[in-house]
Amino acid sequence: MAAAPALNPAVQDFVRAPFRKMLIDGKWVASASGKTFETVNPATGGALASVAEGDAEDVERAVRAARRAFDDGPWSRMSPGDRVKILLRTADLIEQNALELAQLETLDNGKSINESLNVDIPSAAGTFRYYAGWVDKSYGQTIPSDPSFFNFTLREPVGVCGQIIPWNFPLLMAAWKLGPALACGNTVVLKPAEQTPLTALRLGELLQEAGLPDGVLNIVPGYGPTAGGALVKHPAVDKIAFTGSTEVGKEIHRETAGTLKRVSLELGGKSPNIVFADADVEAAVQGALMGVFFNQGQVCCAGTRLFVEQKMHDEFADVLAKHAHEMPQGHGLDPATKVGPLVSKEQLDRVTDYLAIGKSEGAKAIAGGERNTAAGLADGYFVKPTVFTGVRNDMRIAQEEIFGPVVSVIPFKDESDAVLQGNNTFYGLAAGVWTKDVNKAHRVARAIRAGTLWVNCYNVFGASAPFGGYKQSGYGRELGSYSLDLYTQIKTVWMKLS
Ligand code: ADP
Repeated sequence: MAAAPALNPAVQDFVRAPFRKMLIDGKWVASASGKTFETVNPATGGALASVAEGDAEDVERAVRAARRAFDDGPWSRMSPGDRVKILLRTADLIEQNALELAQLETLDNGKSINESLNVDIPSAAGTFRYYAGWVDKSYGQTIPSDPSFFNFTLREPVGVCGQIIPWNFPLLMAAWKLGPALACGNTVVLKPAEQTPLTALRLGELLQEAGLPDGVLNIVPGYGPTAGGALVKHPAVDKIAFTGSTEVGKEIHRETAGTLKRVSLELGGKSPNIVFADADVEAAVQGALMGVFFNQGQVCCAGTRLFVEQKMHDEFADVLAKHAHEMPQGHGLDPATKVGPLVSKEQLDRVTDYLAIGKSEGAKAIAGGERNTAAGLADGYFVKPTVFTGVRNDMRIAQEEIFGPVVSVIPFKDESDAVLQGNNTFYGLAAGVWTKDVNKAHRVARAIRAGTLWVNCYNVFGASAPFGGYKQSGYGRELGSYSLDLYTQIKTVWMKLS
């Protein structure tokens, strides 16, 4: 493998500071308890940076700041044109600091620098730019009414939003949450994942540089049950937006039932990727590989159940395995790397446990199937890209979310069998269909119960296209105009005319 390029000096400074502080009311502060935690470089297993560890007391301070910033209105009452400028400037600053952010993301999460630099960072900038466009286009209505009244609606911000994000796309998930929330005039307390807090903290600095008033965005890094839990329970928080596991999503759903705060949940998946024999086979192979190995498979919509029409199942699986076997695996900073390490020791254990479960259920690993302990990788959290055959859709590896570079190839007889098996899951986040028959593509797209359906492509996203789950993959739609519904509420005004 090629030597990794030198780190940007700003990245070295960022990770070498005694510890990274949290952002509350426009100031960078230590936690109330004085505690810190370490974030780890998953390529080496070594400590990367020390970060202030927030808990209930810090959340209390952050919510108070966000409440004051909302109620006193430096953001919600700012002219839309000025808010647009700040969000556009943020997008520009992300782009100007792209290399630094990409290296920081790769160090903290493990993902390849090509993905950080070409996907995560530009998409984060694009999300802020897209939502800047909505600030002054989020209209109310004038309602036809009895002529003795003037009846209209105002689209108003929800208030203080608690946003809890995962570690798989740390900066991009922050952008998906902050872009629409801020565009709509809300204030925010953001809790990044404890595994990957660094780029969210750097983004906080960039938003300040762009001119965001104090208290509008507060960032409290810390652990889920403590910092996240305090945010979910806090009575002065009007809305919780969460992306993460279905298990924690359910807990948040239960916890918020008592206060009826608004909630949107983007949760897990076990997405079917269905390849018909009449597909462009080479494109389908590439799509299946990218659908499951992108970001080491740590993607909620990964195409982990690969249904292949029976008559070409064996041949397709063999080609897939050959490609999987050849995918360059290494440290994320190495530009040759396609598959990096998993994010944490916990993820490594979870994924290797599932590899053992798959084998004990009778599945056969025709590629990978084990941890990668090659020279230079043994201390990191590397799992070889794995292709399982001999899988039935009712096995645990086909029903439970593994969140790693593991695909189960499952044969199907015909279209109705593909739809039946594809829908046989608690989840409903996304699906893929590969066929040259446009009628079949339309039929299957309608029949699969999932929030996103890709035809002859996979893992395609755009800031303007809604994303979210059916069934136990959550509720609410992020991105596009649909996110505005999550972050605004409608006020009806009746005026008596005389
Ligand atoms: P994963 O299992 O992939 O780490 P989680 O759902 O546990 O995913 O984590 C996603 C985010 O939710 C992280 O920011 C995490 O700290 C947070 N979190 C975890 N548990 C809770 C909880 N009980 N309440 C609120 N947030 C939580």
